[in-house]
Amino acid sequence: MKKYFSKIVIVSGIITVIIITRCSNDETPETSSEIVVPNIIKTESQLRDEAYRADPIYGNIKTLDDYWLAFKTIGETQYGYDFGNQEVKIITDLTIANSDSNRDDAAGIAFGSCKEGVIDVAINADYWSEYSFNRRLILMWHELGHDVLNAAHIEGERAIMNTPIPDEYDLDIFKKEEAELFNGTDLIFFDCDDPYFN
Ligand SMILES: [Zn+2]
Repeated sequence: MKKYFSKIVIVSGIITVIIITRCSNDETPETSSEIVVPNIIKTESQLRDEAYRADPIYGNIKTLDDYWLAFKTIGETQYGYDFGNQEVKIITDLTIANSDSNRDDAAGIAFGSCKEGVIDVAINADYWSEYSFNRRLILMWHELGHDVLNAAHIEGERAIMNTPIPDEYDLDIFKKEEAELFNGTDLIFFDCDDPYFN
């Protein structure tokens, strides 16, 4: 009889909990529906960035200098370059307002082209703050292409060394364009004897 009684207590206890839970749900329907809806829909750009972040090399990029380290790793391990020791200066000190008049809409400027052992890249902070990760990567590969590979702009196809630079690439297309930059398909060199660089 004692056992039977304690069972009733437990069962009625459970029923009470269910009723309380239901009541509290009924009282706050707006809150629960607000929690369910967001975070489901991602933009194409966000989905693209997730694919880049999952890549073992691009996924390690956190600081500005990390872009150079990733560029160096890919160039040296996959395309046979030896970039040697470089004095690296990559800063976001440009803005749309303070870019010089010839390049007032420049997203980035490479000052180290044709200078051995010097990487000197200025990034436009206004553009940078609005760019997705994969667009930042395109911009940095473009500027490091100028600065380290001495690559000039090319015309015609939608390549990393085009100007204006491409908006965004899916990861597989970026890797193809990256290969064509490093392997020379899309590489036209600056004339480093030009007084502009001296
Ligand atoms: Zn350029």
